[in-house]
Amino acid sequence: MSRDRLVGLVFDDRYLTHNTGLDLIEDRSPYPFAEPVAHPSSPALVGRAKHLMDLFGITERMRRIDPILASDEQLTVYHTPEYLARVTEIARTDGGDTGSGAPIGRGGDRVARLAAGGTIAAVDAVMTGEVDAAYALVRPPGHHAMADEGMGFCVFNNAVVAARQAQHVHGVARVLILDWDVHHGNGTQAAFWDDPSVLFISLHQDDLYPPGWGAADQVGIGDGEGFTVNVPLPAGTGNFGYGEVFATIVVPIARQFDPDLVIVSAGQDASVFDPLARMSITLSGYRVMSEAMMGVAAECCEGRLVITQEGGYAPHYAPYCSATIAQTLVGSTADGEWIPDPYGERAETQPASVELGLDAASAIERAIAIQRRYWAI
Ligand SMILES: [Zn+2]
Repeated sequence: MSRDRLVGLVFDDRYLTHNTGLDLIEDRSPYPFAEPVAHPSSPALVGRAKHLMDLFGITERMRRIDPILASDEQLTVYHTPEYLARVTEIARTDGGDTGSGAPIGRGGDRVARLAAGGTIAAVDAVMTGEVDAAYALVRPPGHHAMADEGMGFCVFNNAVVAARQAQHVHGVARVLILDWDVHHGNGTQAAFWDDPSVLFISLHQDDLYPPGWGAADQVGIGDGEGFTVNVPLPAGTGNFGYGEVFATIVVPIARQFDPDLVIVSAGQDASVFDPLARMSITLSGYRVMSEAMMGVAAECCEGRLVITQEGGYAPHYAPYCSATIAQTLVGSTADGEWIPDPYGERAETQPASVELGLDAASAIERAIAIQRRYWAI
């Protein structure tokens, strides 16, 4: 017997306790401000996203999925035992950096395990058919985390361990990970660099962070050659340019790969207001990208889609982007209403929303030329 489409939501108040410390540039001397500036990875961002989802009646249309604490076994599919021990050790102190720019506070190892375990729980729920798709609104994010160190606010690589969960526990053959966080998903790329069973596609601002990662000619090695797809884009590429990338690169390659599960590393830091990047995506852009991935999942794998939260640092806007993604998963309200853009109509008429810049056009052309060695696009 068929049932209505069900979408799961992973959220836990403990995600809000992940403590990065006060500020991002505290080690610079002389520190220029009289007061410390709050670290951009604030608990308010994920908290507000959840709050908006409650206010707009989205949460009540989703099925709650409880996160688990990821076990050593689940984390060591990627991370080294030495790294796990180091994170545990740091979490016993008043806090410190798990690598480069990924600080945790006291007890932070448990929150990071809960983030990885939340994404794993979302995969479990989708693979067992408890839900059709799921949004893991987790924190800290994961896509920069390498096997042996945290990086860029990320402690454990949530998407990587969740993809391996699908393969090792649920017998999935092929996983697609689409990473639209504005920074490059270096940790995820490294995990599957020589592995053709996981197709990694990253859309990001060209050479933003980490330096040197995500050039279009980084395509994987050995058996994995062609299964890493990098689309570096110039600052200012907005809804229209991203739409072009989805139409000409992401969707055609995803269809040919024919995944059994789609995971989206969803950072909402390509938004028009983000302090850490220079893209111009608005709410409708995130809706279109979400719909594209729902379409790929529907076509290839009965809709099996897990969206996991990565970055997003505009305090008043990123939460709207995340809530819009969740709303896209469950569908608009009965009268067809979507969450209104707090930026107003201007969001849809700015140049980046309606036209393709010349530098974006040439960046897309370059990426296509490289991918044509591997895919019919
Ligand atoms: Zn990011």
